[in-house]
Amino acid sequence: MPKATETVLEIDLGALVHNYHYLRSKLKAETKFLGVIKAFAYGSDAVKVAQKLIALGVDYLAVAYVKEGIVLRDAGIKTPILVLHPQQANFDELIERCLEPSLYSPKVLKEFLETAKKHNQTNYPIHLKFNTGLNRLGFWENDVDFIKEQLGGRAEIKVKSVFSHLAASDDQTEAAFTKTQISSFERIVKEVDEKLGYTPFRHLLNTSGILNYPEAQYDMVRSGIGLYGFGNAPEIDSELKPVATLKTIISQIHNIEPNESVGYNRAFTSEGYKTTATLPLGHADGIGRQYGNGKACVSVNGQKAPIIGNVCMDMIMIDITGIDCKEGDEVIVFGKNPSAEEFAAGADTISYELLTGISQRVKRSFLGT
Ligand SMILES: *Cc1c(COP(=O)(O)O)cnc(C)c1O
Repeated sequence: MPKATETVLEIDLGALVHNYHYLRSKLKAETKFLGVIKAFAYGSDAVKVAQKLIALGVDYLAVAYVKEGIVLRDAGIKTPILVLHPQQANFDELIERCLEPSLYSPKVLKEFLETAKKHNQTNYPIHLKFNTGLNRLGFWENDVDFIKEQLGGRAEIKVKSVFSHLAASDDQTEAAFTKTQISSFERIVKEVDEKLGYTPFRHLLNTSGILNYPEAQYDMVRSGIGLYGFGNAPEIDSELKPVATLKTIISQIHNIEPNESVGYNRAFTSEGYKTTATLPLGHADGIGRQYGNGKACVSVNGQKAPIIGNVCMDMIMIDITGIDCKEGDEVIVFGKNPSAEEFAAGADTISYELLTGISQRVKRSFLGT
């Protein structure tokens, strides 16, 4: 791997390939695979990741919003794209760009039907999202009659799939709850099939679902975090490879006397003689203030160095006392060691938030093709 000469998020496409094969190995050969590439492919690069996933043979891609899908279409991506959380304001563009909406409430279903009619569509593919306990987005089980009534005799749209989302697939202590979600999903899909008179395909599992409830894989699974190298469990993380490594360099080294302070509001004061390093990376790059004041550590020449004082917009300071390093040396913020999960845990958050928060100001570079 090349040494960093500035702040860079290195995206290892080889790691993506490895993680895809690992997840696939947990599934039946006939189960379709949807790659979740919302939020810039979890902070990496949606187009590059999409192209790689397509080369690997994924069946579907998913984004959260219509504008994310448009970027993929502009890049020439023809794979079906599920838009998980579209808004009515973007339905025209959604249809113009052949994106497939998740419809999740009576209101959006009606609005989408109107838009599809206005665009003279027949059999426009849509996906019905049901709430089975996450209580976030989704039709209720007893909306099936309403759906039937709306769709009966209408040719504008066609239900391509029915899906739901698990609330705690990563948490074994919630297994009983997850099982109730799985059974209500089974009831719902049966009722939908009966009432629509045809059988849309089914999907329920995210990454942790694939790992913990493979019996509920149905026709397709939807994986995000696993592709990027995290399985919400240490024994899975050790099987996966992190796609993103955030690297930076030491801009300047300071030798601090006892009782001197470092950074805004003098949040760090040194008890003894300390050596500190300033890095060109701050909260505007996605390393939020919650990581400051000793909460998270970076790695300098293989040694742990805590972030000290308050995180600034464009800089952080770290304690490098006793670490052999010099100005210009590479610093690993997260990657293999510390992992994004470990780094995030220091500030009581999760890899998902840390990864998706790395701002667009940070340069992306790619390993592998
Ligand atoms: C984000 C998302 C996923 C992916 O979840 P991971 O835990 O990252 O695998 C799957 N399904 C839905 C509905 C999502 O919003």
